[in-house]
Amino acid sequence: MFDEFRYGAGAGRGTRKQGWTATQPTGISERSSDDRVVEPAAGGRVVVLGGNRSTLAIANSLSPSAGSVTAHLIPLASTPLGIAVGDTRQELSIPLSGLFEWIDRTFSAEDEHAFVAPLRDLELLVRVGWQAPFPERVDDRSVLNIEDLPEDIADALARPQASLVQCGVCRRLCVADQFVWKEKQLCAWDYHAQAFGRRGPWHEGVYAERHFETLPSCAYVVHPLLAELNVDVVLMVSGVDEPLARDVVNRLLEGDQQRPHMVVMSEGGFTVLREA
Ligand SMILES: [Zn+2]
Repeated sequence: MFDEFRYGAGAGRGTRKQGWTATQPTGISERSSDDRVVEPAAGGRVVVLGGNRSTLAIANSLSPSAGSVTAHLIPLASTPLGIAVGDTRQELSIPLSGLFEWIDRTFSAEDEHAFVAPLRDLELLVRVGWQAPFPERVDDRSVLNIEDLPEDIADALARPQASLVQCGVCRRLCVADQFVWKEKQLCAWDYHAQAFGRRGPWHEGVYAERHFETLPSCAYVVHPLLAELNVDVVLMVSGVDEPLARDVVNRLLEGDQQRPHMVVMSEGGFTVLREA
């Protein structure tokens, strides 16, 4: 049935390299005489079918015997530090005869962030009835066609998976608990805009004890986002005892009482911001 498939718009769109089809990766299973799958690599394997900014579609079996392919859809989130791979997945059953059409439609060429696996490589896997156990962890080592993926996706797979939640403002996915503002989960962009924007908790003069108890707290501060808000970073203190860190911060604030500052707790220390 795949012989009838016309590659159409999908042909040549993937970042096709000579790579893994030519060199026979160890992950491609071969059928032994009793028709059981021999999996030479330790752990499971998956092949990436395609992806975009919010989803990565993978499969661990392209065996034609089932008549359908189970695509596992993994959520992705964009962060200022790169893409984060979610720790959940949804399963979707796709008839094998419509697989390539599904890939092409779901990860459309009109979406500049979409990519698809080289279809001829997938076709080869279908021909050999490729299947592997689902890996304990989907990462850069368990993805068969890691070489074909956009660099930011390959980098994301090399990092630990994250729990993803929807941003309370823009509704896009973001990493849970990294940027919480007024008990709402936010993406880095919306957190910076809200916490460090004009209506944020700016403060003139030194911080009293109680001020230090209610500091805005986030996973990390993104300097380019601050620049857009006309905010400067004037001090970062970390790796010292907290009483000393507070003292250092207050020395600074004491010396510049006229301008609004904000002390932020992040990355195990304090970052002091000043309105530019
Ligand atoms: Zn957002």
